[in-house]
Amino acid sequence: MMIFTSPVETIAFEGHSFYVKRDDLIHPDFSGNKARKFHYFLENDFPHITKVVSHGSAQSNAMYSLSVLAKMKGWEFEYYVEHIADYLLENPHGNYKSAIDNGMKIHVGRGGPTPTNQNILYIEEGGRQKEAEYGLKILAQEIMDWQKENNIAELNIFLPSGTGTTALFLQKSLNIEGVVGVQHPTVYTCPCVGDSEYLKKQFFELEEDANYHPIIISLEKKHHFAKLYKENYKIWLKLQQQTGVEFDLLYDPLGWRVLLAHPEVFSKPALYIHQGGVLGNESMLPRYERKYGR
Ligand SMILES: *Cc1c(COP(=O)(O)O)cnc(C)c1O
Repeated sequence: MMIFTSPVETIAFEGHSFYVKRDDLIHPDFSGNKARKFHYFLENDFPHITKVVSHGSAQSNAMYSLSVLAKMKGWEFEYYVEHIADYLLENPHGNYKSAIDNGMKIHVGRGGPTPTNQNILYIEEGGRQKEAEYGLKILAQEIMDWQKENNIAELNIFLPSGTGTTALFLQKSLNIEGVVGVQHPTVYTCPCVGDSEYLKKQFFELEEDANYHPIIISLEKKHHFAKLYKENYKIWLKLQQQTGVEFDLLYDPLGWRVLLAHPEVFSKPALYIHQGGVLGNESMLPRYERKYGR
């Protein structure tokens, strides 16, 4: 059995003092919010399942985490992508290489998997599904225990979103599991994949009751996922210098830019959730270095 606890550290960035929940340190292979989202599948027995099938991008963190889960469970793993860059095929690296090393079979082309039999476990792109709630309830409980131990009465939490699954189930669990009469922490998040409207829609698909939704904050300017932005690279380097912590290059740079633009989050003690994904930097960092230098 794997122990799902991660330390909380105190860091300072650009004059703001912060707590950081180091979910990137849960386990060398199975970490970050994908470990939380797939915790349910790791913890429970599925005697009839022999194979897990999913789809998404060829460098996704979810893909890599599923390859680890499949290996731990002794399942086959098939993954569907629309496209793989020639460069990646010729020079496998990052999440793609690690997932292949774990035995992933990859299918390229349009048209994803179709459910055919009950020995197959289907996982939505990015792990956006209701089973994710299980692991995020455990994260919520860990945070509340830590608050109590450290006498932190009020707390703001921040994490950047893709599908919004992590932020949503975290806020919901904090509301439900919290002690009656005690103010529960507020979860703030920003959209990294689409815009605020897209993220709100994602929340509603997972949870109809808007009382359980996190607060969405964002920048004015439009942001395209996985595109290179000089500002993102600059803040990522600065984070590394000032905090000594390696953050991921896809979500965290935008997350910190949004945070610095929204000082209201710092009006209470603030906790940043490090959601892992650092293995993906193996593919993002060389792209940034080629474009903007070291
Ligand atoms: C997957 C991922 C996210 C986005 O998580 P969602 O639950 O889809 O919002 C954010 N950060 C990192 C590092 C991730 O791997």
